[in-house]
Amino acid sequence: MPQTAKTSIQHISMKPAIYTGILLAVLLLGGTAGFIVYEGKLQKRADEAQMIYKDLLDFRSTLTLIDQQLSVIHDRPEIMQEIVENTKLLQFRSVNFQARAQKNNMPELASWMKSRHLMLEKMLADIDMKRAGAGNNISLMILELDDVILRTAIDVRLAADKVYDTVQLFFFIVLAILVVIIISAGWVIVSNYRQTVIPLNQLAEKLRMVNEELPESFHDTAEEVKKNIRPEEFSSDVNQITDSIVSFCQNIELKNKKLDELFIKDEKTNLYNYRHFKDHLIVDVARAKRFGEKVSLAMIDIDRFKAYNDANGHVAGDIVLERMAGIIREECREADIPARFGGEEFAVLFPKTGSSKAIEIVDRLRQIIAAEPFYHEKALPGGQLTISAGIATYPDDAVDWYSLINNADKALYRAKQTGRNRVVHFRELEAEEEREEGSV
Ligand code: GH3
Ligand code: MG
Ligand code: MG
Repeated sequence: MPQTAKTSIQHISMKPAIYTGILLAVLLLGGTAGFIVYEGKLQKRADEAQMIYKDLLDFRSTLTLIDQQLSVIHDRPEIMQEIVENTKLLQFRSVNFQARAQKNNMPELASWMKSRHLMLEKMLADIDMKRAGAGNNISLMILELDDVILRTAIDVRLAADKVYDTVQLFFFIVLAILVVIIISAGWVIVSNYRQTVIPLNQLAEKLRMVNEELPESFHDTAEEVKKNIRPEEFSSDVNQITDSIVSFCQNIELKNKKLDELFIKDEKTNLYNYRHFKDHLIVDVARAKRFGEKVSLAMIDIDRFKAYNDANGHVAGDIVLERMAGIIREECREADIPARFGGEEFAVLFPKTGSSKAIEIVDRLRQIIAAEPFYHEKALPGGQLTISAGIATYPDDAVDWYSLINNADKALYRAKQTGRNRVVHFRELEAEEEREEGSV
């Protein structure tokens, strides 16, 4: 007996997916914030290097101007003051350069500016003292400055490259994370599809096929559903659903079996009912006609049952009916169809059976019932409960199922007429009729 599934379906846990999603979002946000700060610093350094480069160019042009002014100072002594101011300006700027170079991690530039600051100071002193040869070192300073400018230009370029490389690296990492997320999401969707949608679809298809292929009966549906189901390949949720469906089918099968029984069985005697008997009779006669087989039919009636009922009541009568039905069922073969025809009448269908075998079975039945001790049967006129039976065989005694019943009934009537507790075959009636016709 199948067990009713009381297990409730557990909900799919979303926690791992949610936690992974939150972790990735935090990683992306944190990484982006870190990148913005870092990239800002790099950009600031690159901008500063760019500014230093431009200021160095400016520094150089002032230096060149001083050099030119010094070369014409003999002809134009009035520009002396201008030379002094320009030199002081360069001095001031060299201090400024030192601070900026140190801040921007350019130690060579810082030390060069420091030493040139001293040189400019000496040059100022020489100019002040009107010493000859003041400014002799300017050409050398310009040459050195060109070298410094070149190296600063390289620094500017490297800083800009670093910003560019960092941005590229950042976008590559973001892209890689996105690719990982897309692949993971795709994998989750595909595995989910394989483990849930596909098996559920198979299950639905199987149920549909089973239902179509077994239209008359739902029997064994549960077993059919279980076939080819591979629990190791499905998600636990789908397996739970499958188990629920299997259990549901088992319950339906059980109820359908009961319904089937109710549909074809007689409630009081538990023999087949008239409807089922008639369906079988029609089919078996048609088959016998097609394959040239024989079908025998016995109509059985309890003798003087009214008297028994009157004497002992209907409840006792019912017990007799049930017991007699039990004996009839026991004496019949597997393929025979014993049925309650109505009231206290029974009918037994013997497929693929000729008259002699049917007579043999029914007569043995009659003898067993006659010998069976029933409650208060001694009080009956004959002292025992008996049955009478009439048998007819297709195609010897009938042309169709309807005349087969009628002729078996006629034989039963003859059994009653001729003393009861008898089995009469229809062909005996025909023989009698022929004898009667012959004597006339
Ligand atoms: P015979 O067949 O031998 O001619 O006599 P009989 O008394 O059996 O025939 P009759 O047709 O006159 O009576 C049949 C009786 O069967 C009448 C009825 O009380 C009884 N009977 C029919 N169905 C049932 C049933 O389901 N339970 C009981 N207890 N009796 C039933
Ligand atoms: Mg009767
Ligand atoms: Mg009777």
